Amino acid sequence: MRPVGCHNEVMTTEIAIIGAGIAGLSAASELAEHRGTGEGILVVEAERDAAIHTSSRSAQQLIPSYGPEPVLELTRWSIARLLEAGNYLAAPLAWPSSFVVAGSPEDVAAMTVPGLRTLEGAELFELCPELRVNPQRFRTAAVDESAVRTDGTALVAWHRERALAAGVEIRTNSRVTGARRAGDLWELTLGAAPPKTVRAATVVNAAGAWADEVGALFGAAPQGLRPLRRTAALVTLAEPMPPEHPMVDDAAEDWYYRPDAAGAMISLGEAEPSEPCDAQPHEGAVAGLIAMIERETSLRITGVVKAWTGLRTERPSDVPVCGWDPVAPGMFWLAGQGGYGFQTSSALARAAAELVLRGEVGDWLSPATRDALAPDGSPDQSATPR
Ligand SMILES: Cc1cc2nc3c(=O)[nH]c(=O)nc-3n(C[C@H](O)[C@H](O)[C@H](O)COP(=O)(O)OP(=O)(O)OC[C@H]3O[C@@H](n4cnc5c(N)ncnc54)[C@H](O)[C@@H]3O)c2cc1C
Repeated sequence: MRPVGCHNEVMTTEIAIIGAGIAGLSAASELAEHRGTGEGILVVEAERDAAIHTSSRSAQQLIPSYGPEPVLELTRWSIARLLEAGNYLAAPLAWPSSFVVAGSPEDVAAMTVPGLRTLEGAELFELCPELRVNPQRFRTAAVDESAVRTDGTALVAWHRERALAAGVEIRTNSRVTGARRAGDLWELTLGAAPPKTVRAATVVNAAGAWADEVGALFGAAPQGLRPLRRTAALVTLAEPMPPEHPMVDDAAEDWYYRPDAAGAMISLGEAEPSEPCDAQPHEGAVAGLIAMIERETSLRITGVVKAWTGLRTERPSDVPVCGWDPVAPGMFWLAGQGGYGFQTSSALARAAAELVLRGEVGDWLSPATRDALAPDGSPDQSATPR
């Protein structure tokens, strides 16, 4: 016998967004702004809170020279947007924080885009004195002085608050476990007990590492999304690093560090395939990273404040997917942000809002980037029927 009050609650909304990471929440706030209201937008999140997967595990650096060309354009636009928005807030959303790639001339050239300022010898070691102990390895460097840092928690909170203030509803503990077509609507099953049903004309798939699994519930075209592990830690240092010290990336092996209020944030820079999951560091990984940084630089690490692993989820093209699925009507992809999810977030949210509401992205984004964002299997996303 069913318990009294245990009924299948049904709710109808216009737009359901699956996933409350930086992608889902920035899309929610941008959609609300473009529509003039957030009423009729529902964000459903599987976990007990927003942004507990990859969006709470990033390095929080926005680098206009990092990534393929479409990512660079999305990053430039997003940085300008965040700097501008910060003018109207009590605290900035982004601030200058240069990015240095150091190593042999060949490795640095392979890791960077042309046109960055080159640093060598005394100039490099003045900026990054900890590299002075290894002049044979750190022979040259390229510096991106237009890079900025963000506070990922504050940025997520900003989008969430804007969305809530506009009337968006956010439901946590609400994992989407099924989807079926009901007339012109999608009927989503939320795997809570008792189960709940949400009906929506448009569904935005912002499910991060799970996005292809979620897409399969809709019979959507797979995007070949690959979750890739990356491990990082906050550590204390014997000698503090000044806050204006750049983020430094080793061109040969991709490990990196940057200053942090705690001391430094350090990362292995690995890209190891994984299932979608709550990834955790492999045993010994952080100790190995600390040993490597202490071997290659003069940084001395005195303790680990916290360590974590996150999943950077990439498409084969390494360009995010933002557009209507070519097979499943009304299902919109916003996924595959890889290691660029924060640095592209504002531009992707705006592109998503324009595509969802108007069917096309304005010419603030180049045609090449608009094409690169289209879901695989979709020759012309603006022509995809909704
Ligand atoms: C170590 C590391 C360093 C990084 N550094 C940077 C950096 O410096 N700059 C940068 O721009 N990017 C960086 N990134 C990448 C960035 O963090 C990601 O691109 C971004 O967080 C992805 O956001 P998301 O919202 O797509 O995913 P997520 O934050 O993972 O959100 C997806 C959400 O969907 C939910 N979900 C999944 N399935 C369901 C379902 N069936 N029903 C309901 N909800 C569901 C999940 O619970 C999750 O909350 C880094 C990543 C890592 C791991």
